[in-house]
Amino acid sequence: MNRKDFSEIGHTGGKVTFTIVCDESGRVSYQIGYSHSSPRPVSLVGIYAHPEGFACGNIVMGGIGEPWNTPPFPNCIAVLMASDSQGKFGHECPDCKKHFRSDGIPARSSLTCPYCGTRAESYHFITPPQKSYISHYLESLHTAIYEASPDSNSEVVIDMNSIADSITDAPRPDFYYTSIAQQTEFNCSTCNSYNDVRGRYGYCSSCGWRNTAEFQRVALERIRGQLVDGYLSPNDAVKQSVSEFDSAARDYVDQLISLVPMKETRRNQLNRLLFHNLDKFDELLKSCFDINLLKGMSADRDFVRKMFFRRHVYEHDGSVATQRYVEESGDSNIEKGDLIRETIENTNKLIGSLNRMISTLESDFHEMFEPDPFCIEIESNRKKRMSERKA
Ligand SMILES: [Zn+2]
Ligand SMILES: [Zn+2]
Repeated sequence: MNRKDFSEIGHTGGKVTFTIVCDESGRVSYQIGYSHSSPRPVSLVGIYAHPEGFACGNIVMGGIGEPWNTPPFPNCIAVLMASDSQGKFGHECPDCKKHFRSDGIPARSSLTCPYCGTRAESYHFITPPQKSYISHYLESLHTAIYEASPDSNSEVVIDMNSIADSITDAPRPDFYYTSIAQQTEFNCSTCNSYNDVRGRYGYCSSCGWRNTAEFQRVALERIRGQLVDGYLSPNDAVKQSVSEFDSAARDYVDQLISLVPMKETRRNQLNRLLFHNLDKFDELLKSCFDINLLKGMSADRDFVRKMFFRRHVYEHDGSVATQRYVEESGDSNIEKGDLIRETIENTNKLIGSLNRMISTLESDFHEMFEPDPFCIEIESNRKKRMSERKA
C-alpha cells in the first residue's frame, strides 16, 4: 500500500446517542448507544472519564450481558470512542509525546511506547484531539441532563458521520479526532499486533517486543534472495548485510544507553562504538551489560572478524586489499593490492552469523526489558488452536 508519511487518517464516523429519561419527580437517568452505518472499518472502545473531564480508566467491554468493570471513581462517565477509518487508534506517549497507531486502546493490558518504552495503562496515551472529544462528550451529556424537564424523554446525538463525510474546507470541530499515519507499519513477530511507528524500529505497543532483530532477519533474507537470483554481487551483499547489522545493533545499544543508568564516560564510549569493530563491540557488550554477542559461535569468531574487515575494503577501498587489511584481518591468503573477490558461500555464512548475533542481542535485551506476556499468550493460544484445527 502506498501511503504518505504523516498523512491524516479520518475518523471512521458513527453516532453516539444519549437517551435521557427524566421522571415526574425530576430524577434523570440516561443510556448511551453507538451506531455505525458506513462501510469503513470500525472498532469501538470505552474509556472512563472523571466528571471533571479527564480520562481516568479503561472499560473492559466483555460479551453481551457481561457487566463492565467498576469505574475508578464514583460518577465516572463511560465514553465510547470509535477508531479511525482503518479500524486503528492513534496514541500519544505521555512521556516523549510522540504519536503512534495500534489496533486499539486495550483495556486488559497496558500500552508500551514504541519510542521510549514507557509502559502504562492505555488511557494515559489519549491524544489531545481525543481529549477534546471526551470533553465535548461530557459537556453534551451534562447539558442534556441539566436541561431535561420532568416527565420527558430526549435524545442527544454526537454525529461523527456528518463530519467524517464532509468534504468542505470548513474548520472541523476540535472534538473530531483523527490519527496520523506514521512511517513503518508492522505486525509484531511475537504477539502479531499491528503497529504504525515513526522511523523504522520500535517496541510493539502491545507486548513491548522490539522489532529490530526481526527487521534485520527480513532484510537479510531479501539480500540472500537477491544474491541467489544474481541481482546482487557477493561484495555488495556483504556491504548491505553488515550495514543492516550495524543499524540494528546501533538501535539496541541506543536503547540500552537510554534505559540503563550509567556514567557519562560509559555513555560516551557506547555512543562512539563502531559495530563492525567486532572485538571492541563484543567486549563492551559483555562488560557493560553481560550480553554475550558470540554465544555458541566461538568457531566463527575469526570468520566474522575477517568479513567485517572485508566489508570495510568493499565499502571504502574499491575491494582492493590495503596494508591495514593484511595486518589486521587475519586473512593470510590475501596480499596488499590484491582484488578481493567475495564468494557466495562466504556471504551466506556471514548472513547466518549476523542473524545469530542479532538474535542473541535480541533475547538478552528482552531478558532485561521483559515484554508484557498478556498479548503473547493470546497469540500463542491462537496459534495452538489453529494447529489443532489443522491436525
Ligand atoms: Zn514515549
Ligand atoms: Zn507484540
